Amino acid sequence: MGPCLLYAQGAPEPTVPKIEDLYMFPVRPGLQNYLSGTMGELRSSHFHAGLDIKTSGVQGLDVYASAAGYVSRIKVSEGGYGNAIYLQHPNGTTTVYAHLKAYQKDIAEYVRKAQYQNKSFTIELFPEKDQFSMKKGQLLGYSGNSGSSGGPHLHFEIRDGSQRPLNPLKQDFSEIKDNIAPEVRKVVLRTMTTGSRINDQYGRFEFDLIKKGSQYSIPGLISAFGKIGVELLAHDRLNGANNRNGVPCIELLVNGQQAFQQNIERFSFAETRGILVHTDYETAMRKGRRFAKLYRADGNQLPFYKTNSQDGLVTIEDGSTYQFQINLWDIHNNTSQVIFNLSGSQPLSSISKNSYRSSAEIRHWISDNNLVIETPASTQDNICVDIYANRMRYEVKPSYEINGAGVMIWDLDQGLPDSLRFQDEVVTFDFKAVMPGGREFNYFGDHLELYAGKKALFDTLFLTTQYRTDLEKNREYFKISEDLYPLQKNVTITLKPQLNYPVKSKTAVYAVNKSGKTSYVGGQWKGDKLEFKTRNWGTYTILADTVKPQVKAARINAESIAFVIKDPMSGIDSYRLEIDGQWVLMNYDYKRNLLWSEKLDPSIPFKGNLRLKVVDNVGNISYYSAKL
Ligand SMILES: [Zn+2]
Repeated sequence: MGPCLLYAQGAPEPTVPKIEDLYMFPVRPGLQNYLSGTMGELRSSHFHAGLDIKTSGVQGLDVYASAAGYVSRIKVSEGGYGNAIYLQHPNGTTTVYAHLKAYQKDIAEYVRKAQYQNKSFTIELFPEKDQFSMKKGQLLGYSGNSGSSGGPHLHFEIRDGSQRPLNPLKQDFSEIKDNIAPEVRKVVLRTMTTGSRINDQYGRFEFDLIKKGSQYSIPGLISAFGKIGVELLAHDRLNGANNRNGVPCIELLVNGQQAFQQNIERFSFAETRGILVHTDYETAMRKGRRFAKLYRADGNQLPFYKTNSQDGLVTIEDGSTYQFQINLWDIHNNTSQVIFNLSGSQPLSSISKNSYRSSAEIRHWISDNNLVIETPASTQDNICVDIYANRMRYEVKPSYEINGAGVMIWDLDQGLPDSLRFQDEVVTFDFKAVMPGGREFNYFGDHLELYAGKKALFDTLFLTTQYRTDLEKNREYFKISEDLYPLQKNVTITLKPQLNYPVKSKTAVYAVNKSGKTSYVGGQWKGDKLEFKTRNWGTYTILADTVKPQVKAARINAESIAFVIKDPMSGIDSYRLEIDGQWVLMNYDYKRNLLWSEKLDPSIPFKGNLRLKVVDNVGNISYYSAKL
């Protein structure tokens, strides 16, 4: 079984050494299995690091060591991988088994003892090399739904010697059947410079496809001009499951020449957030659709591309025709193609389009480094806009007209506009500063301060802020940039509240989503300012949580103790259960709001004075006492 055909066709050899038939399938070996996730699949803020193996909607299937090795790491966490186990193999690779319901007996006992010793449910352990050595196929534990898992399954990874995920399906497991070619849903063409056009327009345009077998095409002729980029909405299905999985290998050819290829065969966890620029972030945020860019965007440091000298972009010249071909492969070398033609032509300055409705008022949006302004169709002679920037007035002519409406493209590197005027209408902007990518940045405003480290941004950001109060609710809102722009690393934001907060210790920063729902973020008061860190732009507010966590006993007897704990506002921070002053291990599943006991010695009944303490994220405390 070879890697992607990309390499078989004369491209460089893959850098991952060929792994011998070393690994076995970790659940229900020998039987047909189904996947709900593949390695490299596009998730909201990372590439999926392994296989999600379906477990028929139930928990408790046996999970086996995929290869001989020893247990090098065990981690129990409330979120993330939940109960996870890591096996180190003699060839330098590591296999990972996550979201387990439980570990096998000996490991479970070792973990439980360590939890009692550390008085903590969450724990990370690194056993000695000879402590738990495992034969291939030996029982490790039982599949589950622990951590941030959204349904019962086994998450399985194979990592290289530097803990970088590899694609386990390169093992060509007989348990997985796949003769289905990748499916393509849409192609996007987008302009990459102020002067480039798609069908005489500036912007990002989605195209539907006609499908014939595994061949796709775009109907009709597309005209283009200047530097353009391609994006693709595609997924791969495997036999017997409806899940839309990732497409690891994609190649773009223009007139038979390779312009771009991706082969997601390995990446590091430090790089995985690069997905925010691998895909079109704005579309992902607006529509939940993850279009893969077939070019390397600014700030993209991911290691699995090969491109032409323009990072995969293509320059379309007047009078020439360009044949575009996109080839897709899944890991089993099922393949599909997309074909379309672009004809290069100087853009028209006036377009009429049946499908286009020009707006009744001024519209404006940011696209790359440009502010695009569309004015309503007008019968007057002067259809320029006046842009006020750099303490100057600029008269800007339309770059083109569409159904009589003017489209102006203002390069924001020329200056951040304060406002614009078109005939009698005035639009004001909230631009505060240019945040350059790759540099440290400080902003001091009336309502907030912002600090960003060198690596916080992927690319230049045109910072906007807004402040408003809702005096009826006694709330203030701080809007910092837009959630349509990605952040690579945390920025530090210091709010300067104008309203009065009598119980500061119980207040914190909360994020406000589009529908007005709030979620706890945290933060620390520094005098009259409230400082917090975030990797998400958007709207924030300050709320007080003075309500104690809810604690309800679900079961209290000599054998077993369980509680339902909830804190609707700031959320649960910690919990502690003691009997006669002795710490008792409580497992916690935040998804079910459930705490349940686990004895150190199952033969000794619980007896004595029970006391449970639950603390929320701003320090409200609930106690529950009982006698056993
Ligand atoms: Zn997973």
